Amino acid sequence: MFYKIFDSLLTLAYPQACQICENSVENLADGVACQPCWTKTNLFSGIETLCAKCGAFLQSKPSDFQTFCHRCDEHFYDSACAVGIYELALSASVLHLKREPFVAKKLQKLFVSRFQSSDFQDATLIVPVPLSKKRLLERGFNQAAVLSKILAKQISVNLDEQSLVRKIHTPMHRVGMDGKAREMSVENAFEVKRPKLIKGENVLLVDDVFTSGATVSNCAKALKINGAGKVYVFTLAKTL
Ligand SMILES: [Zn+2]
Ligand SMILES: [Zn+2]
Repeated sequence: MFYKIFDSLLTLAYPQACQICENSVENLADGVACQPCWTKTNLFSGIETLCAKCGAFLQSKPSDFQTFCHRCDEHFYDSACAVGIYELALSASVLHLKREPFVAKKLQKLFVSRFQSSDFQDATLIVPVPLSKKRLLERGFNQAAVLSKILAKQISVNLDEQSLVRKIHTPMHRVGMDGKAREMSVENAFEVKRPKLIKGENVLLVDDVFTSGATVSNCAKALKINGAGKVYVFTLAKTL
């Protein structure tokens, strides 16, 4: 018992180790990564060229016209954006958020200000990408719902955690699973339980990370079949 208390006191008194470089994190607000690692992380500033639909990183220079990656042509959402590239401080934060329902102050601020500079200002409802019942029981919380609550509070847009559900439990995406395999594993995995609450709403679909887009596209498909207007996708990170 004594050691347990002593241990937690130590954690309080001493800075945590950065999950990337193992130097100490001096500022609690930085979360699991130190300031230098945050500086090295590619956060989107608005200057770079991103796919106008899915938000994929295309080049660091700006472009004079709208550019599309075309891998997202068939996706059902209208457009997607993320805080930055899934690397360093952002990937460490996303992995941490899968273990604990905690979002550091710095990341909260980045998330909210990225939304404020996005083209998603006509969103009327925030919907987190749901977990299956099985995964929710295993994890104890839905990381997308944690992010959604933070955003809903800051931007005063209603949150709906109940209407969109994941009816099929799909195994975790594995490295080496190609786009087609991912797409098939989540096809028709989602359904809308309360269509009345979705009808006519411009939905901001929130998740921690955007990988192939198959999951959010299938969520968007279910939302649109049930009368949603626009469907935007908003995530912490976008994989390269
Ligand atoms: Zn570091
Ligand atoms: Zn794209």
